[in-house]
Amino acid sequence: MKKCYIFDFLISHAKIYGFIFPSSDIYGGLNAVYDYGPYGIELKNNIKKFWWKSMTFLHENIVGIDSSILMHSNIWNASGHIDEFNELLIDNKDSKKRYRPDILIKEYVEKNFSKNPKKKEDILFRLSKSLKKKDFLDLRILIDELNICDPISKTKNWTKIRYFNMMFKIKNENEKDLYLRPETAQGIFCNFHNVKKSNRMKIPFGIAQIGKSFRNEIFSKKFLFRMREFEQMEMQFFILPEEEKKWYEYWKNIRLKWHLFFFGDKKNYKLRNHDHLAHYASYGTDIEYKFPFGFQEIEGIHSRRDFDLKKHEFFSKKKFKVYESKKNYIPYVIETSLGLDRIFLAIFFSSLKKEKLENGNIRIVLKLPHYLSPIKAAIFPLVKKDGLPEIAKKIFNNFKIKHKLIYDQKESIGKLYRRQDAIGTPICFTVDYETKETNTVTMRYRDSMKQKRVHIKNISKIIQKETGLEKNLKKLSHLI
Ligand code: ATP
Repeated sequence: MKKCYIFDFLISHAKIYGFIFPSSDIYGGLNAVYDYGPYGIELKNNIKKFWWKSMTFLHENIVGIDSSILMHSNIWNASGHIDEFNELLIDNKDSKKRYRPDILIKEYVEKNFSKNPKKKEDILFRLSKSLKKKDFLDLRILIDELNICDPISKTKNWTKIRYFNMMFKIKNENEKDLYLRPETAQGIFCNFHNVKKSNRMKIPFGIAQIGKSFRNEIFSKKFLFRMREFEQMEMQFFILPEEEKKWYEYWKNIRLKWHLFFFGDKKNYKLRNHDHLAHYASYGTDIEYKFPFGFQEIEGIHSRRDFDLKKHEFFSKKKFKVYESKKNYIPYVIETSLGLDRIFLAIFFSSLKKEKLENGNIRIVLKLPHYLSPIKAAIFPLVKKDGLPEIAKKIFNNFKIKHKLIYDQKESIGKLYRRQDAIGTPICFTVDYETKETNTVTMRYRDSMKQKRVHIKNISKIIQKETGLEKNLKKLSHLI
């Protein structure tokens, strides 16, 4: 299947099966904003749980917080976001569409020069040089030289390149303007002292947070990849300044191992050192994943040095120096910042398979890691009569508090299995006539489609063994 069809198939599967809906769907949708449906939110919560536990349970020196989205507007002065959080913009005068010129160039090069690595490298080098020097004129010339057309109007009628700020401003009658936070990190920095004191933390230590962020992105039609409202899973690790390089390498390594544990496939990952650093960073690496539209950033690892704490010291007039290890200093910070929606997209994409069965039929199956599946097991009666639904319902009720289960009797058994395959349920249990005699049910595995009989009293243990998170966290803890 062509890549663009795969992506369309993925988006439609996500909608049909209740994972992702366009926001404001009945009003025609809202650009670059999406809602999570019943199975989507379960999968998202399971990803969050795994990340949260791998940060705050596996590392005894990392604790979590949940800071507010609305914060004092001075925070954004201090952090530099009001002055520096800008993106480049170019308009096409005919289509009236806006683009990021750097992305326009990168996508063009990816599409047209993938078989000419030398040329590709030269153009990307020039792009990176111009971005570093803020040489917008050269970027504009590059777009002309490459003859890049607007994908909609097919014309080269471009405006000048200019900057725009990516924060959403909230007009407020009685207060100074407020902003929707563009990163969760500032909530962590502002709580540095609160957390350190209340939890008696000593350097090095980390603060983790999962929360919404908002950026006024130029729409890229890449589904969950680039949204205007999205979620980040960030961890800021406070260290001695002279240990910057050591911890930066440490977290790069740990985070890559975490991703490989999640997906297992090395060839889908790349580390890319930043050529164009954010205003707060001294080192930066992107962990890139091979999305349907090519390798793109899924997580950023940065050294933010003492940039943020120093700025907050200046703006808030509060001391950010610590006295530890017989030294008085402002800690440096290593940040790991993962986009929850991006990893959701990556997991969904890598798990969604079309399989040809022996009888020639096609089955669509979402081969999610079992511990992430929205539903851990499904319970069906073989037929809707002769007391089978009552037995199946009883099993469901007995175990529903311990495991996320589903009871279904709406279709024939074959269709019920296919539906569970499509939403990624790892095991199904079917109550049949033999159940009445032997207290056993048919257990069917999603991946192999193999079936066997198991006793009802073992169902909970089997679900726990097949889908439990703990087992995987334990495996991960040996790796990191
Ligand atoms: P990009 O270069 O793709 O715009 P970025 O370098 O601006 O990303 P960071 O500021 O490092 O991203 O944010 C950390 C993480 O947050 C990213 O690695 C990504 O996973 C996620 N993220 C950032 N912007 C978005 C967005 N608009 N939609 C979804 N996730 C995002």
